[in-house]
Amino acid sequence: ILETKQLTKKFGDNLVLKGIDSKIEQGQVIAVIGPSGSGKSTYHRYLNLLEQPTSGSVVFEDQTINQLTENELDKIREKMGMVFQSFNLFANYSELENVNLAPMNVQGLTAEAATKQSQALLEQVGLADKADAQPTSLSGGQQQRVAIARALAMHPDVMLFDEPTSALDPEMVGEVLNVIKNLAQTGMTMIIVTHEMGFAKNVADQVWFMDEGQLIEKGTPTQVFDHPQEARTQDFLSKVL
Ligand code: ATP
Ligand code: MG
Repeated sequence: ILETKQLTKKFGDNLVLKGIDSKIEQGQVIAVIGPSGSGKSTYHRYLNLLEQPTSGSVVFEDQTINQLTENELDKIREKMGMVFQSFNLFANYSELENVNLAPMNVQGLTAEAATKQSQALLEQVGLADKADAQPTSLSGGQQQRVAIARALAMHPDVMLFDEPTSALDPEMVGEVLNVIKNLAQTGMTMIIVTHEMGFAKNVADQVWFMDEGQLIEKGTPTQVFDHPQEARTQDFLSKVL
């Protein structure tokens, strides 16, 4: 469903991505792990071309998307739900309005239809009773769950998460991971950059270890966590597990 071919990115003379070949199949849950600065977020941003790569290509649903115009790209991006470390909710809208926004403005849903859908999504993330609350009155975990509902409101074909829990207080990490885990069980295709090794182990179909701009090792959680083949993976895991 989503593929990169020899993707590279240079910032000045710093080669941050060194030719990433990756392929995400429909329904797969991929956890991307690796040390700070290894290029995980940069890779993640190129999956929906928030910026242009230096070379290489990104293929989404059989279409090479890095040759598209910005307008065409916007259409493609509607099919990709993005969730970041910071929630970026609109502070002066209620939760419900935050989730309603894109379906109404981009897809042209009526307020009534959007609200019906948003209520169901807020229920899915465990926030049905908070629809009228303003984001500022919510905990970080709750705000992140609204951000997930908002991304789901566009019926994406794939969900891209970049460290969705690393800005949260420890006691809120679980509730957000649970929402993502439930989403995995619905068959949603997902790529999740995470430092939560336990979560990666339990939820991902595939774990990809990235280091210094390269995908060093890919495999099932058992392969990567219990039987890492590469020295760099072993070294990283020995520090974080
Ligand atoms: P973390 O786990 O800390 O989030 P990461 O694996 O996501 O790290 P990236 O954010 O992708 O790492 O950064 C990879 C490298 O690219 C770093 O050396 C970083 O300094 C560099 N980099 C990222 N974005 C830019 C930018 N806009 N301009 C210049 N250098 C950048
Ligand atoms: Mg990052």
